[in-house]
Amino acid sequence: MDCLFCRIVAGTIPAKRIHDDEHCLGFFDINPQAPTHALFIPKRHLATVNDATAEDRLLLGHLAYAASRFAQAQGFADAGYRLVMNCNADGGQTVFHVHLHLLAGRRLTWPPG
Ligand code: 5GP
Ligand code: ZN
Repeated sequence: MDCLFCRIVAGTIPAKRIHDDEHCLGFFDINPQAPTHALFIPKRHLATVNDATAEDRLLLGHLAYAASRFAQAQGFADAGYRLVMNCNADGGQTVFHVHLHLLAGRRLTWPPG
């Protein structure tokens, strides 16, 4: 399958990995929008969150759990951070393999652009 993030999971495209378990991979974003910008993805291909089935509910929660563990391990959990998942064109999704962004290290504004 010609999917960038599936290739990162397979290891054929390099990434700065920060988390690796049976179901989820975490790595730094190549174009960071905050001092810390990481992506947590399911190892199994899922194009958008719209494609999630009832069986994927735990998997989606797993991404948020892995991100929160990383935030705590890195010491910025209490200061705060943002988790965001973009979906399709209006959401700003550009890579069609589900990913949860973790942004941290600066005061983020709301609403987002
Ligand atoms: P989206 O806009 O789909 O929510 O986010 C896609 C993210 O993937 C962007 O923040 C972009 O910088 C990141 N990205 C795109 N290509 C690569 C890559 O080859 N490696 C890594 N580590 N991140 C990438
Ligand atoms: Zn994929």
